[in-house]
Amino acid sequence: MNILVVGGAGYIGSHMVKQLGLMGCHVTTLDNLSNGHRDAVLFGSLIVGDLSDRVLLGQVLEAGRFDAVMHFASFIQVGESVEQPAKYYDNNVMNTLHLLDAMRMAKINRFIFSSTAATFGSPLYTPIDEVHPQNPINPYGRSKWMVEQILEDFDRAYGLKSVCLRYFNAAGADPEGQLGERHSPETHLIPLVLQTASGKRPHISVFGRDYDTPDGTCIRDYVHVSDLCDAHWLGLQALLQGANSEQYNLGNGNGFSVQEVIDTAMRITGTTIPVRNAPRRHGDPDRLVANATRAKKSLGWLPKYSDLDAIVLHSWRWERRQ
Ligand code: UDP
Repeated sequence: MNILVVGGAGYIGSHMVKQLGLMGCHVTTLDNLSNGHRDAVLFGSLIVGDLSDRVLLGQVLEAGRFDAVMHFASFIQVGESVEQPAKYYDNNVMNTLHLLDAMRMAKINRFIFSSTAATFGSPLYTPIDEVHPQNPINPYGRSKWMVEQILEDFDRAYGLKSVCLRYFNAAGADPEGQLGERHSPETHLIPLVLQTASGKRPHISVFGRDYDTPDGTCIRDYVHVSDLCDAHWLGLQALLQGANSEQYNLGNGNGFSVQEVIDTAMRITGTTIPVRNAPRRHGDPDRLVANATRAKKSLGWLPKYSDLDAIVLHSWRWERRQ
């Protein structure tokens, strides 16, 4: 099988490239290396280029004879998206449209898209299933939702079949220790907590202790990056077998508070992690937990690392190698 992984040098994309490579697929990564790393592409070939380069896109897609495209390349920082919405609509929406157009020209009609729980906005209920209303509250979430809607239209008009995978909190690292999270700047809780444990940061700030949760800190559903890749693989199999376009929420259905993450990290690392209380971060709902029944029933998705200990342990092994 011949797969194009757009954003294959980034955090989740690089884990996907490895998984596809191990499954015997022929993998091509297209990445502009703005946030990705050349040495994270462990299988196949890497084309360094930007999705805004429509000539390049046309060439890559016409020449590649791809069975499917997986798209991981997007900007992901909520705060930045509020300050610089143009950057988010330009890359996450416009560039994705360029990619879909190039696929249409090359007659490639299977697409797996990295979407997000942020398309739901502040939840009306939890756990959040796929029929929960989508009402994103920031440009990042809106940009992903726009693509979901574009994909519905492209299916109707052009027969492009897609799987939208709405990640809750992607976390963890390659269990074999070859890959992990390397964002710059890092904004995600688990890597920041572990960087504090290893002494790279003086403390971890807890953004708000007055939420409506048992310990007052926000609750999130952390899902292992390898499990996310499994869902991509299963989504790909479904499309190859002729399934219709579908959206899936991906999480473990277990929420952990910020304080619980810090406590788990202290236990796993055997360190004391200095904590500071900080104000709430704008736009953080108190609780985001997935109902992933659809992915489990329709795709047969079975997360392997559903407990927080494994997620933190794999991230810690990666952190220690840095
Ligand atoms: N968080 C925190 N301190 C940090 C980074 C994050 O308290 O330095 C909190 C954040 O407010 C949220 C949770 O940790 O409640 C997860 O945040 P992250 O940025 O990892 O993912 P998000 O939920 O924004 O996708």
